[in-house]
Amino acid sequence: MAVSGLVVLGATGSIGLSTLDVAARHPQRFRIVALTARADVEGMARLCARHRPAYAVMAEEAAAARLRDSLTTAGVAEVEVLAGSRALEEVAALPEADVVMAGIVGAAGLLPTLAAVRAGKRVLLANKEALVMAGPVFIEAVRRHGARLLPVDSEHNAVYQCLPPDSEPGTPPPGVRRIILTASGGPFRRTPLEALEAVTPEQAVAHPNWVMGRKISVDSATMMNKGLEIIEARWLFGLPPEAIEVVIHPQSIVHSMVEYEDGSLLAQLGQPDMRTPIAHALAWPERVPSGVEPLDLVSVGRLDFERPDPERFPCLGLARRALAAGGTAPAVLNAANEVAVEAFLAGSARFTDIPRVIAAALEDVPPVAARDLDTVLAEDRRAREAAEAVLARLRGTA
Ligand code: NAD
Ligand code: MG
Repeated sequence: MAVSGLVVLGATGSIGLSTLDVAARHPQRFRIVALTARADVEGMARLCARHRPAYAVMAEEAAAARLRDSLTTAGVAEVEVLAGSRALEEVAALPEADVVMAGIVGAAGLLPTLAAVRAGKRVLLANKEALVMAGPVFIEAVRRHGARLLPVDSEHNAVYQCLPPDSEPGTPPPGVRRIILTASGGPFRRTPLEALEAVTPEQAVAHPNWVMGRKISVDSATMMNKGLEIIEARWLFGLPPEAIEVVIHPQSIVHSMVEYEDGSLLAQLGQPDMRTPIAHALAWPERVPSGVEPLDLVSVGRLDFERPDPERFPCLGLARRALAAGGTAPAVLNAANEVAVEAFLAGSARFTDIPRVIAAALEDVPPVAARDLDTVLAEDRRAREAAEAVLARLRGTA
């Protein structure tokens, strides 16, 4: 079997660590070519000592200098340390890289992920924000450069597994009536509505079923995560928004479903552990062990499904509205959400301010046609400024 060169963008994060865990179980299949992170020098030094990549990239220059020192002290000589956002794009496109895990969180992942796409790699997409921001541009690049796009987000990976083999990215699969994305409902599914205003970041990131990075954990609590995933599904599978439904499934065992014209409903089930979709995408079209325990349905006992409450989860409606508005509206939605979530995590905004900030940013930055990447990035910046201004107003400082 040929060894594949693997690049892990966002190696120190939750997705990155799970990817390296799976890859390390299959050294005959994967050689680690490059690892990247923003600023976590200790985390990266540990990963370099363990996986011995040819390149390690820190997005921040100062962090790269500290990593070089740390690796020299530890006697890890063979790793070349690079710095900056251009280096992220360069390692994503290295000739010795066959597979690229897009595991950076947020808009920062867009350019490195697109660099992998444009180099025609097998791209494992966890970074849903990239597709939300630039869906049509992204899918067009996948087609043009012959990249292989494999969804890692558990819902989209589940849908992909339930679709006919070799479905074209962005093209409606034959015979499919709709897809049903499942959502856990997060930690506040039963919290009294009037208590939501005072919930803390610690409560918001304490997800009942999944262990994830802080940003996506807050997104799960607001259900903006599912809103972003509706948009992600729209571009990945080419289905109209009305053919993408969301149901709350508190056990997180059914990871999503595909409904066919004949009434068949296909589902993918498994433990809530990202190593399953990661292993699926890494080894596709083969199947390899992921380290995940088999699912014991008898001990799960029951599977419940309910409709999301639009009043409790206004972010779902905002995401649908942005998708319907089209053009750069999803990029604005995403940018405003990133700003609002960061402020909430920093203690400078309330949980209930998150949808307020996003709604106001969507008003203040009307959509334009998302013709190219520069337009998308410019509107992303405008939306961030608008969101900061709304936050300042809410704090009463403007
Ligand atoms: P995380 O916060 O745990 O890790 C993020 C990684 O990105 C880190 O390695 C960090 O160093 C890097 N990073 C952050 N900002 C950066 C920047 N400005 N420039 C370069 N690198 C940067 O996040 P995560 O939970 O692993 O999520 C990663 C992506 O995967 C997100 O888009 C998320 O929505 C998606 N995702 C995650 C899960 C999960 O279970 N964690 C599930 C589905 C989808
Ligand atoms: Mg998901």
